[in-house]
Amino acid sequence: MSSEPRSTLAANAIEIEGLRKTYAPTRTTAGHEALKGIDLNIPAGSIFGLLGPNGAGKSTMINIMAGLVRKSAGKVRIWGFDQDVNPRQSRAAIGVMPQELNMDPFFTPRTALEVQAGLYGVPAAQRRTEEILEIIGLLDKADAHARSLSGGMKRRLLLGKALVHHPQILVLDEPTAGVDIELRQMLWQNVRKLNERGMTIILTTHYLEEAEAMCDEIAIINHGEVIVRDRTEALVARMDGKTLVIVPDGQAPSHIALPAGVALDRRRDGTLAFSYNRRETSANAVLDAVRAAGITIRDVATEEPHLEDVFVALTTSRPASGEAA
Ligand code: ADP
Ligand code: MG
Repeated sequence: MSSEPRSTLAANAIEIEGLRKTYAPTRTTAGHEALKGIDLNIPAGSIFGLLGPNGAGKSTMINIMAGLVRKSAGKVRIWGFDQDVNPRQSRAAIGVMPQELNMDPFFTPRTALEVQAGLYGVPAAQRRTEEILEIIGLLDKADAHARSLSGGMKRRLLLGKALVHHPQILVLDEPTAGVDIELRQMLWQNVRKLNERGMTIILTTHYLEEAEAMCDEIAIINHGEVIVRDRTEALVARMDGKTLVIVPDGQAPSHIALPAGVALDRRRDGTLAFSYNRRETSANAVLDAVRAAGITIRDVATEEPHLEDVFVALTTSRPASGEAA
C-alpha cells in the first residue's frame, strides 16, 4: 500500500500505517503479538467490514482506533488527526459500540446518554438525547431503569451511547453476535440510515452473509495481518469456483465419470452438486457427463461463490491463486 498517504479530511476516515501491538506477558500468559504491521485506509462515507477468525486482532485494532488500547508502534489517523499529535480531536471523531454489555443498571436510557455526553464534554445545548432515543427506538423506555431493559434494548442503548458526541465514524464490534433476527435487522436499518446521512461505518462481524450484504469494502484479517482488502463484489468475483446442482429423476447411479477438474458432492437431499473452475470447465461439459451417466435431469441450478468461499480460501494455509495483497 502507499507509503506516505496524505492526511486529507475528506478522503479517508481512517489511515493506519505499520500498526503493531504486542500485549505484554503476564504471570499466566506469554506476550502476544496481536497486530504485526497493519496498513489500512478506510474511505470516508463507506460501510467497511473487518472480517477475520476469532483472535485475528479485530478488537485490538478497533480499540486502538478508539484510544482504548495503547499501540506498540505505527501511525493512526482518525478523520485526519494523528492520534499521537491530536488525541482529543481523534477521539472525538469516533464512537464505538463495544461487544460486551457494560452499563450501570441504575441509569435510565436518558440518564445514560446524558452522562455519556457529559464524559465527552458535549455542552447541554448541543446534546441530542431525544433524537438519539428516537433513532434507537427507546423513546418509550427513556425513563425505565436499564436493569428492566431486554438484552436487545441494552444493545440499542450501547449504540446510542456511541452516538452522543456526533462522531463522524461509528465503529461496531460484532454488533449482532448472539442477537435475534429482529434486533439484527433493526440494527442494520439504523446503521444504513446513519450511513446515508454521511457517517462512516466500520464493523466487525462473524456473519459473512451479513458482511456481504452490508459492506462496500472488506478487509480480511488473520493472525494480526491484513491478508486482503477489496470492494466486496470484487472480492467475491475473485473466486472462479462454480457449482452446478442437478436434481436427478430417480436414483443417481453410483458411478459417474467426471471431466478433469470437476468434483462431485452427493448431497443429503439426493441432489448432485458438481463443483468446477468456470475458467477451465464449461457447464455444458458437466451436463454432458451427467447425461452420459444415464441420468435424467429433473431440475438444474447454479450456485455462485460467496464471500464465505473467499474467506475459507484465504484463511486456510494453502495460498489462494493469484493473490497478491
Ligand atoms: P478478535 O477481535 O479478532 O477476535 P482480539 O483483538 O480480541 O481478536 O485478539 C487478538 C489476539 O490478542 C488474541 O490472540 C488474543 O488472545 C490476544 N489478546 C487480546 N487482548 C489481550 C490482552 N488484553 N492481553 C493479552 N492478549 C490479548
Ligand atoms: Mg473481537
